[in-house]
Amino acid sequence: MSIISDSLKRIKPSPTIAVTQKARELRSAGKDVIGLGAGEPDFDTPNNIKKAAIRAIKKGDTKYTAVDGTPALKKAVIGKFRRENKLNYSADQITVGTGGKQVLYNTFMATLNKGDEVIIPAPFWVSYPDMVLLAGGRPKIVKCTEQEGFKLTAKKLKKAISKRTKWVILNSPSNPTGAGYTKKEIQSLAKVLTRNKKIYILSDDIYEHVRYDNFNFFTIAQISKLKDRTITMNGVSKSYAMTGWRIGYAAGPKDIIKAIGKIQSQSTSNPSSISQAAAVEALNGKQSFIKKRSNAFKQRRDFVVKSLNSIKGISCLKPNGAFYVFPSCKGLLNKKTKLKTDTDFVKKLLEKENVAVVQGSAFGLDGYFRISYATSMKSLEKAMNRIKSFCESLE
Ligand code: PLP
Repeated sequence: MSIISDSLKRIKPSPTIAVTQKARELRSAGKDVIGLGAGEPDFDTPNNIKKAAIRAIKKGDTKYTAVDGTPALKKAVIGKFRRENKLNYSADQITVGTGGKQVLYNTFMATLNKGDEVIIPAPFWVSYPDMVLLAGGRPKIVKCTEQEGFKLTAKKLKKAISKRTKWVILNSPSNPTGAGYTKKEIQSLAKVLTRNKKIYILSDDIYEHVRYDNFNFFTIAQISKLKDRTITMNGVSKSYAMTGWRIGYAAGPKDIIKAIGKIQSQSTSNPSSISQAAAVEALNGKQSFIKKRSNAFKQRRDFVVKSLNSIKGISCLKPNGAFYVFPSCKGLLNKKTKLKTDTDFVKKLLEKENVAVVQGSAFGLDGYFRISYATSMKSLEKAMNRIKSFCESLE
């Protein structure tokens, strides 16, 4: 009998973390690897936020806090939802966790019974299906094509709903495609969900502040009658370049928020007191960092999309958010190139040209790969040249 639990056997380690780790190993072995696998901004946390953390340490805010967030942070989160999303919540409708990741994990652990289904549009963030599996649920993957802009349509949503459907996950702008849902698109999904009264919606808005071309961000609770059945999750990781601080939060129905807190109370307890103080400053302090950073990301996105589309066999949509692109490599998967799958493509690219990207199949859609352009223009220029010469060498 194995010491490892059955539930753990159902899941695999995060493939994106694995790629980043592999790139790190190759680099320490002396190889000039360009890592385009990581899902984090390369910018530093703004100074006002760092200073708030230092103040918290000096003041002695170094003890346990309320399990699901300090009153000050909950107040800042309530203010954020009111200011940016026109959503009103009370403190007992807010929870704070160690990253958005923990909030999502706790949500599934708190609500899923064996066999409950969670609709996950693909391409998806790699952790959704595994979190659902760990909690005993069943991921129901709905593939969304490039022609659909990699977005879930009302028709496909309707088809995927069954008696066992408990949650639908929406993630806009999306990891891994960068696709953002318009108000109209969200409303057409909301129409289907309003009719199905038992289904809950998990809106993962972690990339809300990474968007371009005046793309208007909307979250489903704001523009539908579904607020009472929606968990709106967000965090400071991507918006304020604070991935290492580990603060995420969510707002939603009191019973679910309370249940999330119950799990947290018996697992990690409160997120770091110092990080919480920093997050208060992030949400309440000056917001100019967001605009400056988005301009830099936009320049990189434009460069990467243009470069990729100039390569024979590769094609790439121009997304309006996040810091990822999701190009197709289908034009290079054939007998002549001896590459059968996106995984072959990604492996060979790393071997031959030392560029680390992640295969689309890890995100639930074959024939693509994900590039994170959250790295310097210099590295991106070098990487694009290498990808080009790799693809040309296959001819
Ligand atoms: N949701 C999506 C779509 C993500 O890409 C990530 C991080 O990569 C998260 C949630 C979790 O972010 P964090 O735990 O850093 O708040």
